[in-house]
Amino acid sequence: MTIQLKLPAQTLAQANKPGSTPVTVAYGDGIGPEIMTASLKILLSAGANISVEPIEIGKAVYIAGETSGITAKAWESLRRTRVFFKGPVTTPQGGGYKSLNVTIRKALGLLANVRPCVAYAPAIVTQHPKMDVVIVRENEEDLYAGIEHRQTDEVYQCLKLISRPGCERIVRYAFDYARAHGRKKVTCFTKDNIMKLTDGLFHRVFNEIAADYPEIGSEHMIVDIGAARLADTPEIFDVIVMPNLYGDILSDVAAQITGSVGLAPSANIGQHGAMFEAIHGSAPDIAGQDIANPSGLLLAGTMMLKHIGQAEVAEKVHNAWLATIEAGIHTADIFVAGHSTEKVGTMAFAEAVIARLGQKPATLTAVSYPAKGLPVIVWPAQKYRKAKKELTGIDVFVHADQSAEYLATQMKAAENGIFDLTMITNRGIKVWPEGLPETFCTDHWRCRFQAKQGKQFNKAMVIELLRSLNQAGVDFIKTEQLYTFDGTPGYSLGQGE
Ligand code: NAD
Repeated sequence: MTIQLKLPAQTLAQANKPGSTPVTVAYGDGIGPEIMTASLKILLSAGANISVEPIEIGKAVYIAGETSGITAKAWESLRRTRVFFKGPVTTPQGGGYKSLNVTIRKALGLLANVRPCVAYAPAIVTQHPKMDVVIVRENEEDLYAGIEHRQTDEVYQCLKLISRPGCERIVRYAFDYARAHGRKKVTCFTKDNIMKLTDGLFHRVFNEIAADYPEIGSEHMIVDIGAARLADTPEIFDVIVMPNLYGDILSDVAAQITGSVGLAPSANIGQHGAMFEAIHGSAPDIAGQDIANPSGLLLAGTMMLKHIGQAEVAEKVHNAWLATIEAGIHTADIFVAGHSTEKVGTMAFAEAVIARLGQKPATLTAVSYPAKGLPVIVWPAQKYRKAKKELTGIDVFVHADQSAEYLATQMKAAENGIFDLTMITNRGIKVWPEGLPETFCTDHWRCRFQAKQGKQFNKAMVIELLRSLNQAGVDFIKTEQLYTFDGTPGYSLGQGE
């Protein structure tokens, strides 16, 4: 079996027509070349007026010593075309390599990740035939800032960063998307019962912005019950907006329960460009076998065509694809004996779609693309009023093997007439004063010093405090200042405090 892994340069050149839109294309790793070749063939056969600029990214680039997985030449193409059609890439496991996907999304400011997860019953077998959910995932923040540190022998840390502009832009995007696509409801998932400051901000901003869209329903769910309902009764959801990590995980769940993770497309939209890809990864387990489903990437291609103003071609491709799956022509991941009519490989599936260009599905609902693309991101014009910020204390994180009592005695040596040691926690749970002997402790402690009633803390005192701790032989590894903003504490309490 020979698999065509890339379209010949001649084919691409022949496809270039006057007025075509330049598109940067990366074939990617694993199944990437197979599904990208299949998708491009279909798009070009349908008359997509694009000029393809191929770039190399991913595994080969990592191996060549570029730890970011992308070369300067590829950046140049991306920054010029501002439209990226991307195959999945393999991120090598282990230290030293950063995820290329995250790098591209963040470097180009592609803040909104739109992932439609739609059931195609009865053509594709699914337990959730009425499902039609669009997940709008925040794409730049949260734990994906990738700021991680090993702090002690036993403890590693990953910073979760959530910003007000980040929340505002993604939530507004979700409502704008709902409005532009005639959607009726936006649901927000967070875990703000635990992360009251970070996820709490996301939820608060959601409530604020929902008020600007009175015609669209809004609701909030804690992500655990939200995820359970999404997996069980996805038809109750319409658009769901969530922070980065939850959105990444739950869009895979949502895609899988429509029939296959290979079905769902993903658009990454920003002010300065857009990237279109499948939601799944490079599937190394099935690479090179001509069995991967190209549908997720193909449908991402139709989102791209809509984005660059070729909605008619997008519609033609999408309807031919619907007619193909409706005819029971299925790749292995969605093939069900007795239900599907033909099990085909990646390229044969592409040929079947090409053969149906111009047709519409008979039982599935044909799509009709609005001429407008996805909503464009606009920075919120509002300026933030500066809050009155006051330093009221400091959390000193310490690497120590002794007990909480011993550590408290050592830390109290740094107390003075202005501030006191008020609490020690271990992995967030209070262990001093009055800890429980049952609490398991690691070698990583957070020691909180706070200004006495009526006293002012300042940065010079922070330096003084650290100097005394250093003299006392305390191995402090990080500090975090405690501020109030307009009198409201900008820090969480210890668990059990
Ligand atoms: P994966 O999504 O590649 O595969 C998960 C499972 O789904 C596998 O069993 C695979 O065979 C199957 N599958 C995925 N796509 C399919 C398709 N189109 N047709 C049929 N079956 C399909 O996830 P993984 O195995 O956890 O990750 C593999 C690599 O992909 C990792 O290096 C990961 O970092 C990378 N990844 C890349 C992206 C991206 O480029 N956007 C996204 C996720 C993961």
